Amino acid sequence: MLENLSTDEIISRGKTALMNTYNQAPIALTKGEGVWVWDTDHKRYLDFVTGIAVSSLGHSHPKVVEAIRRQAGELIHTSNLYWIPNQVALAERLIENSFAEKAFFCNSGGEANEGALKLARKYAKKNYGTHKYEVVSLTSSFHGRTLATLTATGQPKYHKDYEPLPVGFSYVALNDLKALESAVNENTAAVLIEPIQGEGGVYPATDEFLQKSRELCNRFNALLIFDEVQCGVGRTGKLFSHQWSGVTPDIMTLAKALAGGLSIGAIMSTAKVAAAFEPGDHGTTIGGNPLAMAAGCAVLDVMLEDGFFEGVLERSEYLCRGLNKLAEKYGIVGKVRGQGMMLGLTVGEKAPLIMNNCRKNGLLINCVEGKTFRFLPPLIVDNTEIDEALAIMDKTFSMVL
Ligand SMILES: *Cc1c(COP(=O)(O)O)cnc(C)c1O
Repeated sequence: MLENLSTDEIISRGKTALMNTYNQAPIALTKGEGVWVWDTDHKRYLDFVTGIAVSSLGHSHPKVVEAIRRQAGELIHTSNLYWIPNQVALAERLIENSFAEKAFFCNSGGEANEGALKLARKYAKKNYGTHKYEVVSLTSSFHGRTLATLTATGQPKYHKDYEPLPVGFSYVALNDLKALESAVNENTAAVLIEPIQGEGGVYPATDEFLQKSRELCNRFNALLIFDEVQCGVGRTGKLFSHQWSGVTPDIMTLAKALAGGLSIGAIMSTAKVAAAFEPGDHGTTIGGNPLAMAAGCAVLDVMLEDGFFEGVLERSEYLCRGLNKLAEKYGIVGKVRGQGMMLGLTVGEKAPLIMNNCRKNGLLINCVEGKTFRFLPPLIVDNTEIDEALAIMDKTFSMVL
C-alpha cells in the first residue's frame, strides 16, 4: 500500500501508472467514518458525494463492516456453478420490498443495465418476433460505459469515438409526453428511464411521464425498465425511487449503494419477464459472490429499520430549506430539485470553481453539466453536519460569487 506517500507523490506516480480517464481532484482519501473522510495529509472533509451515491450509510458503517469482516473470514467467492445462500437471502429481501419476483446479481450498474437490455431483447424476440428489439431512452440520461449502455445513454459526448454503435436505440427528452408517444411502437422492446436523472443534472421524471411510459409499454407490449442504479436503494427516502410515483416497471436495475461500497449490480424483474432467460443465456463469474451479498443484506437491514426513512426525509427537508435560503441570498435563480438525499441546484458556470473552493474549505460536493451542484450526502447525515456544510457553502459563495 502507498498510504505513507505524500499526496504529490501519489499523484505523480498515478499519472504515470494509471490510464488517463478521470480529471481527479488533487487529493487522495485514505480514511472514512460516518459523514467524514480524511486525506493523506490528515485534512478532514464532510462528504456530500459519498463516492457518487455509494456510501449511503456513511463510511465504515459498523453493521456493514461487521458483515464484511465476518463473511471475508468464512468464504469470499465460490461461483454461480453452486448455490450461494447469501444470494438467495438478498434476492428474497429485495423481492419482499419491491414489485419484483426474480433477481440476478452482477458487479456494477453498467453491467446490470447491459443485462437488462439483453433480457428485454430476449423476451421480445421469444414472445413477439425478431423485429422487436428497439430501445427508447432519454436525452441527458446515463446508463453506463459498455457499448450498449453508452449507446442507451442519450449524450453525444459519450458516443463520439466509439462508433459504430449498436443499432436500435432512439432518444426522447425527459418529460416530453408527445415525443415519447411518437417514439414507442410495435418494434419497441423496452423503454429505459432513470426516475431521477443523476449524471444528467438531477432532473426528476414527472409522475405523468412515468405513467405515460407505463401506458405506452402496455399498449405495445414493450418492457418498462427503471434504472435505479443511482436513485434507488434508499437515496430518495424510499427504498426505490419509483415508489414515489406508484408506477411499476417490468425490470429495475440497482447497483451503487446496494453493497455499501463493494462491487454489486442487480437486475430485478417480474417472473414473467425473467422466464425469458434460461441457463447459459446470461452470467457472471464474480457477480453475486458471498461477500458482496453479505454486505447487501447488512445495508438493507439498516435501511429497513423502523423510522430510518422518516429520519432521512426530515433531514432532507432541512437541507433543502438551507440550500434554498443560500440560493436566495446569493441571487441564484434556480431552486433545489430532486428528492430525499439526491438534490441538485443549478448555479451557473462558476459551479466548478465553487466546488473546488468548497473542497479547500472542507466540503466535498459534486458538479454535473458544468453548472449544477449534485448533493449526495450520506442518508445518515444529521442536522448539525448539514449546518456545517451550509456554513462552508455560505463562506465559499461569499468568496466566489
Ligand atoms: C452510475 C450509474 C450507472 C453506471 O454504474 P457503474 O457501476 O458505474 O457501471 C448506470 N446508471 C446510472 C443511473 C448511474 O448513475
